Amino acid sequence: MAVIVYFWIFPSSNSPFTLLWEDLPKKEQYMQEHPTEVNAEGSPQCFHCHSDKLLDTGLNHFTDYRRITTCTKCKSRLWREQL
Ligand SMILES: [Zn+2]
Repeated sequence: MAVIVYFWIFPSSNSPFTLLWEDLPKKEQYMQEHPTEVNAEGSPQCFHCHSDKLLDTGLNHFTDYRRITTCTKCKSRLWREQL
């Protein structure tokens, strides 16, 4: 319990990235939650600003198997994928 409270109070300390990553929906979930943001080609776009300029990055480093897709326009983290 103390650990949970610690992370809740200090969300930017120690290893917040893994927690943030697990909080993100998977791509399939994202597309189900935001069906109006999926274009004719079947590619989802940002549900905040409706931009289709998205960036796929690794969680901790470029080749990390845990991927995060971020909107390049409003910088929102949209979904996660695992390679
Ligand atoms: Zn956006």
